[in-house]
Amino acid sequence: MEKMLVRSERCKGCGLCVSVCPKKLVVIQKEKRSEKGYFTAVCTDQDACVSCAMCAMICPDCAIIISKED
Ligand code: SF4
Ligand code: SF4
Repeated sequence: MEKMLVRSERCKGCGLCVSVCPKKLVVIQKEKRSEKGYFTAVCTDQDACVSCAMCAMICPDCAIIISKED
């Protein structure tokens, strides 16, 4: 299961989540635009994500969903 999921339909590619990830896992991917025309954020390594939710908390558009493992 993905620990960090970006809801691309909400993401504007502002990069705030990129700047706060303590593990430097979040990037703005440049391969595919969302339906609104934005390059969106993605977590590059789900295994390395510690589910701290810093990225989700700073996102002004509530575009990030964090799942914690049991
Ligand atoms: S902070 Fe939110 S809107 Fe901004 S790039 Fe990250 S997921 Fe997208
Ligand atoms: S939950 Fe924490 S470690 Fe995982 S991508 Fe977001 S900021 Fe990085």
